[in-house]
Amino acid sequence: MCGIIAYRGKRTNAGELVLLGLKKLEYRGYDSWGVAVKEESRVKNQESRIFVCKKTGKIGELELKKLKLPAGQLAMAHSRWATHGGVTQRNAHPHASCQNRVVVIHNGIIENYLPLKKKLMKKGHTFISETDTEVAAHLVEENLKKYKGKVSREVFQTAVRKALNELKGRYAFLFMCKDSDVLIAARRGSPLIVGIGEDSEYFVASDIPAFLEYTNRVMYLDDEEMITIGDQHGFMNIQTGKPIEKRVITIHLKAEEAEKGKFEHFMLKEIMEQKETIHRAINQDEKLLKKVAKAITQAFGTYFVGCGTAGKVCMAAEYFFSNIAKMHVNSVFGSEFSSFQHFIKKGSLMIAISQSGETADTLEALEAGQKKGARLLTIVNVEGSSMDRMADLSVHLNAGPEKAVASTKATTAQLALTLLLAYCAAGKLNEGRKVLVEAASQINDMLNPRYEEHILKLAQQIKNVESMYVIGRGVNYPMALEAAIKLQEVSYIHAEGFAGGELKHGPIALISKGTPCIVLVSNDDTREDVLSNAMEIKARGGFIIGVAPKREEVFDYWIRVPDVGSASPIVNIIPVQILAYQLAVLRKNDPDMPRNLAKSVTVK
Ligand code: GLU
Repeated sequence: MCGIIAYRGKRTNAGELVLLGLKKLEYRGYDSWGVAVKEESRVKNQESRIFVCKKTGKIGELELKKLKLPAGQLAMAHSRWATHGGVTQRNAHPHASCQNRVVVIHNGIIENYLPLKKKLMKKGHTFISETDTEVAAHLVEENLKKYKGKVSREVFQTAVRKALNELKGRYAFLFMCKDSDVLIAARRGSPLIVGIGEDSEYFVASDIPAFLEYTNRVMYLDDEEMITIGDQHGFMNIQTGKPIEKRVITIHLKAEEAEKGKFEHFMLKEIMEQKETIHRAINQDEKLLKKVAKAITQAFGTYFVGCGTAGKVCMAAEYFFSNIAKMHVNSVFGSEFSSFQHFIKKGSLMIAISQSGETADTLEALEAGQKKGARLLTIVNVEGSSMDRMADLSVHLNAGPEKAVASTKATTAQLALTLLLAYCAAGKLNEGRKVLVEAASQINDMLNPRYEEHILKLAQQIKNVESMYVIGRGVNYPMALEAAIKLQEVSYIHAEGFAGGELKHGPIALISKGTPCIVLVSNDDTREDVLSNAMEIKARGGFIIGVAPKREEVFDYWIRVPDVGSASPIVNIIPVQILAYQLAVLRKNDPDMPRNLAKSVTVK
């Protein structure tokens, strides 16, 4: 969600550099974009200015080539995921103050922008966009009013800090001023990472791949911190103005891991990577796993918290812990957590599951839990992410960068790790490992071109349907919900998941002749019941697609999955990922960048 990148250094093509970096953040999802370049005056003593260009839609390669950007050594770019104000060129970032003196880009929401806007308008400021963001530019300009011409680093920094202290909400901000050659970045709640290049060269971005080809040395901005970047940099606390020391961290991520390689789409690449990612997820330090399992067994109460797909993994965790460790754990969506925070006390444990480690709703839930004294544990894919850094204990999925908006390899890695933790909590770590190693090797065999072709045939048959349904019982119920999300996200077909037994209490009224219904089957004690539910659907004309280890009488179309015992939800979701991908391609949707969606959901 929203991409931010800035450059300050010796290169004179800063504008092009940030736009190419912004392209690397495209996976985050956006609807418009823009760039600002501090243009140096060629004539001595003449004012420099900030060139701004913004557009709606995607960043086309051709368009990039045609753009005539001025030379400059300081630039920033933004891809917007609109929250306040429609998707228009005017609302795209960067936003400038009245005199174009201050230019900002922003990720997040300014909750008190309306009263601030009114106040500024009374003081004579004219607003040209409908966004919440624009107030920030005018506020800083107002704070600089008494300084004419060039301003010192300190003056600009104070003006920005004062403005930030008036803003309510979560944000990542970048500020430029035409009368200064420093760049200021600030963070409260949305990710920002500083890259340190050679020769006093700096990058600031919402994710590392944006600048990874130039440097892998980074410093993380934490909440309530800002950085001022001139020839040197300085961090400080936004509220107190106190300087902060930061460590430089070297990231071990190869630039090519974040590229598509031979695949047409990231989504397909990431589905195929599941041949290895289950292994990587379970290949954890035994001491760490045991520590986490102990935290769960000793907790006063455990809450798994996540959103979207990760939220469904949290629901699956309830089943894993109940079936394997005979323990009760709770699961709550991040966005719903505030209603449950009353049960959190000292001794409670919260386990956040998130691919990016930046999901705003989950972060807010963790913050609420932390205030009440809960211990925080996180399961994330992105090392160094906000959740990773705020946790008391953190386990990494090690799935490699996931760029497609629809999560695939991170989901199955999360499932594998949660299942392993349930085994570990039951004191059966080795048994859990065995089950998962076997599942991983079966997935390796399963993901072959014939398998894809078999699912493609089904996709061709159902590509024009209006609605489809997915059912499952036991742990296949949260998987049915996850399967429906996958189908919705990229195929845009109306899809819903249900617990098999719930169908007869309402949703079965939706079934008519030919309605496709995917039935997720495991070879366990839910098998017979879910097959009976499939029969009930078939009796009403439904077209039954069975995802199961065995061909069953009731299936109209069978997709075989290996029988991998308690790991079966992991293998059951994979054919649905492939089906969703193929439906997207057949329906001419872009599976990597589905409409209205963003990858890392950094707004509430
Ligand atoms: N709230 C801002 C807007 O709607 C920023 C959105 C974003 O994070 O991209 O422009």
